Amino acid sequence: MRIAMRIAKVFKSKKSMAVLAAIISLSLLAASVPSFPGISAASANARAATVTKVTLAQNTVNHKTPMYIIDSGKPGPNVMIVGGVHGDETSGPLAADEIKNIRVIRGTLLVIPRANIAAVEKGTRTSSIGDLNRDFPRTKNGKAGSKTAQSIWDAIKKYEVNYLIDLHEGYNYHKIQPSSYGQTLIYYPISGARTVGQVIIDELNKGIGSPSKHFTLVKYPYEGTLARATAQHLGVIAFTLETCRKSAQSIRINNGIKATKTLLRYLDMY
Ligand SMILES: [Zn+2]
Repeated sequence: MRIAMRIAKVFKSKKSMAVLAAIISLSLLAASVPSFPGISAASANARAATVTKVTLAQNTVNHKTPMYIIDSGKPGPNVMIVGGVHGDETSGPLAADEIKNIRVIRGTLLVIPRANIAAVEKGTRTSSIGDLNRDFPRTKNGKAGSKTAQSIWDAIKKYEVNYLIDLHEGYNYHKIQPSSYGQTLIYYPISGARTVGQVIIDELNKGIGSPSKHFTLVKYPYEGTLARATAQHLGVIAFTLETCRKSAQSIRINNGIKATKTLLRYLDMY
């Protein structure tokens, strides 16, 4: 404090003194709070921000897969991003690898980069458990069709997920070939879902010149899909994002990251 007094002599006005005092108290506060990107000293009253890695599907032979929990330490929405439900749709896991490095400023971000890890490792749509995206409960109190789906379902309930994006790929542009769902955001129409969905596709479409390659909002996700089950039975605002395999992998990855960041910004989390 003696140094502070000496510095204070340099400041003539009372206003400058007040500013100086604020700076000193903030730096003292910062010294006592563990540093973490995006968290300022002013949030000293909040819980500490943490990043935790847990393992899902612990009780399976070859489907154990990591989930990353990026907790801002501040109250706010809980958002889950999932990749690798279909193992041959390569951009989802790669986008999720980047997304897990995002640090949110409120709420919690949960990321499962490789939901069906055995399928991702083989590069196939399904694994020995079958199609993970038909395995989620079809009724309110129904059970999931596999331990892998059940472990994801349990995590969604445990962490009280409010918003979810499941990252997938379609083989062609939906506007060119309507039987394919490439470049769509598929939603289940619970309150607020369409509004958020429109914000996300508007942002994605800003970077796409050709209207025939634009993203469109589509309903409904099939029964048994992650987006359908969580929206219909748990009230989650949930989407299946289908990028298009006719575009480069780097573009598909970017679209997954952009969709996520747009949702996080919409929720004032990023
Ligand atoms: Zn898929």
